Amino acid sequence: MNGQRVINFAAGPAKLPLSVLEQAQREMLNYNNMGVSMMELSHRSAEFSKIVHESLQDMRDLLQIPDNYKILLLPGGGTGQFSAVPMNLLRGGTADYIVTGSWSAKAVKEAEKYGKINTVYPKLDKYTKIPSQKSWNLNPEASYVYYCDNETVNGVEFPFVPETNGVPLVCDMSSNFLSRPIDISKFGLIYAGAQKNIGCAGITVIIVREDLIGHAVRECPVIFDYKVQVGNNSLYNTPPTYSIYIMGLVFKWLKEQGGAAKMGELSDTKSSMVYDIINNSNDFYSCAVEESARSRMNVVMRVGGKDGNEELEKKFLEECQKLGMVSLKGHRSVGGLRASLYNAMSVPEVNKLTDFMLDFMARYR
Ligand SMILES: *Cc1c(COP(=O)(O)O)cnc(C)c1O
Repeated sequence: MNGQRVINFAAGPAKLPLSVLEQAQREMLNYNNMGVSMMELSHRSAEFSKIVHESLQDMRDLLQIPDNYKILLLPGGGTGQFSAVPMNLLRGGTADYIVTGSWSAKAVKEAEKYGKINTVYPKLDKYTKIPSQKSWNLNPEASYVYYCDNETVNGVEFPFVPETNGVPLVCDMSSNFLSRPIDISKFGLIYAGAQKNIGCAGITVIIVREDLIGHAVRECPVIFDYKVQVGNNSLYNTPPTYSIYIMGLVFKWLKEQGGAAKMGELSDTKSSMVYDIINNSNDFYSCAVEESARSRMNVVMRVGGKDGNEELEKKFLEECQKLGMVSLKGHRSVGGLRASLYNAMSVPEVNKLTDFMLDFMARYR
């Protein structure tokens, strides 16, 4: 059966660890000898409560989440949080947004429905860098400062945590959550949709400092009100139970693999393997993102010169497909190629891609 599986470089929904899928398969029809599928279990059952409890504890262990932070598991994806964050945190004030790519730009657009949003520097004409912190125009009175740690479409990732001088920092970590250790205490709120790095679509993790809970606007839908959800252990209504189960399996897998520190090491290794080839290819392969801001998760590149050669890129994708390497096409807004190297992607699998890149370059340069 494994022979039919390809190497999936998709940006999300993305590759899951094989052992997680196999366990889910074994348990599909008969979960824990109960004679029903996990999908058919009540969200109020003792078994499901155990799954939630263990998942949250595993996440706390993996990221050393301090006790004064609550964890919520909510529906609506990252996009749901584009609205939930301002509805819960703006408190009638303003917020500062650091826009480094298309996801943070979308977050601004949504947040503007709820209050005054300040972007901390003029709009970039291309999303290929992170402007120096010195150039940011931060408002010390802002309700929060928002940024996206890894821009999935543009391949731009923060190599540092922004300094906000006490203003709560809000971060979209959808596509690099648990890919390296982080100091949670620097953040007011972190959220991440599961389908990039920690599971399948349907569930979003929100880690929020206690003092930021309880300030939602009156119009906030009850399922997005952090206070209501904290009070109900994220079970105000029926949550996507199966997505939570899969995420829990991924957390157990992450613990076995060596946790966030190990994922950080592996992410550096895997992304360097690809960037090294790009850097040494004399622009046969190119990446427009400044070196210091290049994503370890989503490597964007062009083939056949700095502006790319669409003919060659098509050929590249076709040959990859034949070799069992799929979903390497770049986002339509950026073009070219994108290799997503999330936690479930192994070094040997990346090696297969880099071997192919060298071979392709030797034939077409
Ligand atoms: C995918 C993604 C989103 C949107 O997630 P949805 O679950 O589709 O709403 C938001 N932010 C980032 C960084 C993403 O990668």
